[in-house]
Amino acid sequence: MSAATHAAPARAARAALNLPYTHVDDIFINGAWTAARGTGRNPVTDPATGELWGSVPDGAPEDVDAAVGSARKAFDGGDWPRLAPSERAAYLVRIAEEVEKRADELSLTNTRENGSPVSESAGAAANAAGIFRYFATLADYLEREDVRAFPKGGGESVVRREPIGVCALIAPWNFPINLVVIKLAPALLAGCTVVIKPASPTPLSLRVIIDAVAAAGVPAGVVNLVTGSGRLGDALVKHPEVAKVAFTGSTPVGRKIAAACGELLRPVTLELGGKSSAIVLPDADLDAMSKVLIRSSMRNTGQTCYISTRILAPASRYEEVVDMVTSTIAAGKQGDPLDPDTVFGPCATESQYRTVLEYVESGLAEGARATTGGRAASLGGGLEGGYFVEPTVFADVTPDMRISREEIFGPVICILKYNDAGGNADEAVELANNTEFGLGGLVFGADPEVALAVADRMDTGSVGINFFASNHAAPFGGRHDSGLGTEYGVEGLNAYLSYKSIHRKV
Ligand code: NAP
Ligand code: MG
Repeated sequence: MSAATHAAPARAARAALNLPYTHVDDIFINGAWTAARGTGRNPVTDPATGELWGSVPDGAPEDVDAAVGSARKAFDGGDWPRLAPSERAAYLVRIAEEVEKRADELSLTNTRENGSPVSESAGAAANAAGIFRYFATLADYLEREDVRAFPKGGGESVVRREPIGVCALIAPWNFPINLVVIKLAPALLAGCTVVIKPASPTPLSLRVIIDAVAAAGVPAGVVNLVTGSGRLGDALVKHPEVAKVAFTGSTPVGRKIAAACGELLRPVTLELGGKSSAIVLPDADLDAMSKVLIRSSMRNTGQTCYISTRILAPASRYEEVVDMVTSTIAAGKQGDPLDPDTVFGPCATESQYRTVLEYVESGLAEGARATTGGRAASLGGGLEGGYFVEPTVFADVTPDMRISREEIFGPVICILKYNDAGGNADEAVELANNTEFGLGGLVFGADPEVALAVADRMDTGSVGINFFASNHAAPFGGRHDSGLGTEYGVEGLNAYLSYKSIHRKV
């Protein structure tokens, strides 16, 4: 983007964007962009301005049939599942290269769809490429011969790891690229074929990933894309030819998908909501914490599933923590997500905006103290129609308040107090573990051993110590209402495999 572009009002800046996809009437089936059968349309809105700028087909059941049929044909009769894993890995590396070439169009389309600041979406291509490259390194694991002796002798078993079949990949709108790629890369390495359904608000950025897959020469039918509402997702989950479902999204929809898959005895991976806690130990370095706080507790304007939106502060340093969190969040610039300096953008959709404002109201009504924010933001320069909520910090939050228990998925942080008089973090651990969820978490503390011991007591899928990150090579997944199964790592690859043991006498 030129300097002139972001100096211009928000609408002019958008008119100047030359995005590859806006209004489209096709979906990706059997290696080609193909007219959808569904005649309905789903709008794509820019949450920073409220402008409608794109649209996609609202797919019909026939579109799901065509996509699954294409994936099934590629699985049953095509080369893909029969290639050596190292040959598939070479495709993954080529996809990574093609994704990197499309970094700008990916970033800008993503930002226009869901309002993620470009400071966030600019990393989407590199992140996606990193995931493809990481899974490519697991070809060795798939190729390694696995022969196991019978414990009592007399025979051995050859253990095969076979691709599970056609996989349905269903994603939410907050990270529309990453949350597909963490499913697509292991599915492809395993030798599966896939049908992807993006979330309704964010159907366009994924087309750029499909272009990269096609440019990398992945055979026709291996990757298919349909667009449409949750109804279409439901048809995909229940399609008789689908062998596995991988879903990221909300807990209520996850439960419905789990119920459908239970009935069908269909393997399913669910990455759902979260309400994670950052435990601040009494010896924590608050200056260091302030440097990671926006990322660890309000990344992507609070629309990140595993951020720690509850901060558990020791009573002995409560006001100090409140001051640090308040000043750090208040200093983050909210504005046009296309502006590289913007830290906080809008909520991704109008309905999410209303939900977040309802939570803010409920926090105020239940007696929490807004130390910054606490209302809708009104921005000028063409952003008047955008879905902006002021980044909000609530102090004096108690565990029974709704804002303390439920996932808000917006720019709202709650600070709770724990009693550290006994010199240990028992009450903090109890508070952290006392939610329905178990996805992320953080410990801030100066003593690495104490911090590790606290992390070990947290009932959650991942914890960062003075550090917020996810590692492609380590399992990522939630406990309790945060989901079933894991993504990333060898564990994430195993979810796309089916085992066969061939026993023989020796
Ligand atoms: P959502 O409403 O659950 O939707 C997720 C996806 O499922 C969308 O593609 C949606 O399509 C589709 N869908 C809706 N109903 C369906 C049904 N009955 N059967 C099959 N598919 C259906 O979630 P969201 O509002 O997009 O995303 C926000 C949620 O995602 C938050 O709760 C957040 O915590 C969670 N999340 C979790 C993780 C994680 O890794 N644990 C990561 C990011 C986000 P439509 O868009 O067309 O409705
Ligand atoms: Mg939804």
